[in-house]
Amino acid sequence: MSAQAKYSVVIPMYNEEAVIQETYRRLKKVMGTLQEAYELIFVNDGSRDQSAEIIKDYSCWDDTVKLIDFSRNFGHQIAITAGMDYASGEAIIIIDADLQDPPELILSMIDKWKEGFEVVYAKRVKRNGETLFKKWSASMFYRVLRASTDINIPVDTGDFRLMDRKVVEQMKRLPEKNRFVRGLVSWVGFRQTAVEYERDERLAGETKYPLKRMIKLSLDGIMSFSYKPLKLAGYAGITLSILGFIYLLYVLYLALFTGATSKGWPSLIGIMLLFDGFVLIMLGVLGEYIGRIYDETKGRPLYIVNEVHGIQQEEQLPAEHTI
Ligand code: UDP
Ligand code: MG
Repeated sequence: MSAQAKYSVVIPMYNEEAVIQETYRRLKKVMGTLQEAYELIFVNDGSRDQSAEIIKDYSCWDDTVKLIDFSRNFGHQIAITAGMDYASGEAIIIIDADLQDPPELILSMIDKWKEGFEVVYAKRVKRNGETLFKKWSASMFYRVLRASTDINIPVDTGDFRLMDRKVVEQMKRLPEKNRFVRGLVSWVGFRQTAVEYERDERLAGETKYPLKRMIKLSLDGIMSFSYKPLKLAGYAGITLSILGFIYLLYVLYLALFTGATSKGWPSLIGIMLLFDGFVLIMLGVLGEYIGRIYDETKGRPLYIVNEVHGIQQEEQLPAEHTI
């Protein structure tokens, strides 16, 4: 059944034992209404709880269930990528494990796909039960990203989406390590459209995206699609140099015509701080890019699979990202 699956649902999970059974139940219910073959690919991203065991159990008696078990936590974006590498369906759907993305929406996505769209992403019109800070920071992020890149990355859209096989095959050709999957999907192109939904609260458990990871994801999003931060440093440098030069002329005037230069200490220190600060920011920006270049040049595989369940031997073609 799985080899000819029409739909592949990819579910990344990291310590989701509290919700995963309910997620499985809801997904089965929705996919069951379709009367077409499907597979549920759970990617266990190094969970330290029972998530993998629960899915492994399911895969023993439900042949739509597949498990890709990572050797450790590689991160959400990598887990999605692995799921896409292993997916065999004609349409691939990515959904969070915590039921914040309603599985029922998959049906609307499939309708759009059947109309001929290759990418159908879910756009949040409302986010329920998340902190004000999360809503604000997410909203800011999408807008900064939009302003700083040339490709059209839709705002208020997460990774919950449907992609045609064509799109996924193209995604597999993108080898970059610091992945921002939704940006890459936009970059790949094809006909894209949105379905709207209200994002619910997590059913149970807590967010696996603490502030630190959100910052990393934002930086990946902005840095991999834009050179603007580098240019920004350049513009700031030019502006500060012009201001510095004018001030220098003023100091020269004071020294030559008024003899009041000894009073200049505070401004001298001020200028030094200003420029030192600027140089440090500039170094930081360069560091971010150089770090990413370094990641790419190492040529490491994106992820390491510990074991795979429910996927037949002949299906276990080496995923392109693991070569
Ligand atoms: N996730 C993952 N690896 C990680 C972090 C998260 O596979 O390192 C999964 C997680 O289990 C969930 C999805 O990615 O299915 C989204 O994570 P989460 O719900 O914590 O993010 P939020 O909705 O709070 O932004
Ligand atoms: Mg969530």
